[in-house]
Amino acid sequence: MQFAKIFLCLLSILGIDALGLRSFSQTPAPSQRIVIAASAVLDGRGGVLRDTRIVIEGSKIVAIDPKAVPVDYDLRGLTILPGWIDAHVHIAWFFGKDGKLAGTGGIAEDAAYAAASNAWVTLMAGFTTVQDMGSPTTMRDAIANDMLPGPRILTAVEPLMGRGEQTGTPDEIRAFVRKQQKAGADLIKIYASGGMRQGRMTLSHEQLDAACDEAKKQGLRTLVHAYRDAVRATTLAGCTEVEHGLGATDDDLKLMAEKGTYFDPQAGLLLETYLLNRAKYVGTPFYPATEEGFAVFQEILPMNHELMLRALKIPGLKIVFGTDAVAGAHGRNAEEFIDRVRDCGNDPMAAMVSANSLGAEALGMADQIGSIAPGLQADIIALDGDPMKDITAVRRVVFVMKGGIVYKNVARGAIPVYAGVQP
Ligand SMILES: [Zn+2]
Repeated sequence: MQFAKIFLCLLSILGIDALGLRSFSQTPAPSQRIVIAASAVLDGRGGVLRDTRIVIEGSKIVAIDPKAVPVDYDLRGLTILPGWIDAHVHIAWFFGKDGKLAGTGGIAEDAAYAAASNAWVTLMAGFTTVQDMGSPTTMRDAIANDMLPGPRILTAVEPLMGRGEQTGTPDEIRAFVRKQQKAGADLIKIYASGGMRQGRMTLSHEQLDAACDEAKKQGLRTLVHAYRDAVRATTLAGCTEVEHGLGATDDDLKLMAEKGTYFDPQAGLLLETYLLNRAKYVGTPFYPATEEGFAVFQEILPMNHELMLRALKIPGLKIVFGTDAVAGAHGRNAEEFIDRVRDCGNDPMAAMVSANSLGAEALGMADQIGSIAPGLQADIIALDGDPMKDITAVRRVVFVMKGGIVYKNVARGAIPVYAGVQP
């Protein structure tokens, strides 16, 4: 893929070069101290702190101290929580100039600007970390170097597409995994099933074992797109996380809980996005050729709800928050919380924790993000409303800090529409 070139091209358009890079930096000076006053703080682990102050120095939280002064941001009356983590996005997907889902044939600059915009609206919606299922490391690194506003990105670089025997021998698969590791991947994404409806396994047990085992040897986590039989195979292969999981039986879910396999099912945002944007998706590769064909997504929606309902009843099953955000969903990621709570009976606090400390644990980053506690990154957001009482408060993100930098701080009731997206 030529995304790397595209992105370098964008950077040169913006006049950013390696030498001038630091002058664009927004990294806070280590000594910069910020105090946030709060009346309600969800700590990301299921606890609530009342009437306190969060002290930030540089990029980290250094203390929770109700007496800290002077107050820089008075966020009393809002609900404060750690920046959300979306375990599954496709940050580079966008609608091209013709209004259709853009494939790889789009104009380079359009693709780069679109990806940068997706990153920006995602951050504005309160998501300070996302896991991307396959983009080069270019945008991840540009954001990490403070050249662009966006969430912290972890990326799979290039996913392993299961294609039966054509995928390769176990040794070839191991080589593919090592290649991703060398390319700077943070995780390995594996497609072990076909489509949502009948999709059968597209990798043999031997191939799947090789992929997840090699990733483990390289110190990388594995996220596996799996339906039906592939759910159990993924769990038994010792992979880190099952994505989607339609067709999983209760026994499959119990096995995942037993083995500590993370589960990332979706509650509706993805399918709602397809239904809302059917004219933009129709006839593009992998999507129905007619608008009528999109009825299939309406039929699958209750299957998503049914799976989530069952999964929530399995003791010890670690359900993370992943939206599968595609074109049309970036910046609307929090809708998935509403789907979970409204349509699947998820406890609102559990829904928040899934995108905070549990999400961080699944990334192996619980000591850095996902909680409001001294020593952790200052990834802090504030909602106008209380999501415990009204889950639609997740749409009203009025404050976003990532790594000690304030990216958003707007008046209540005046949340701007960014790039056409109302979070
Ligand atoms: Zn996906």
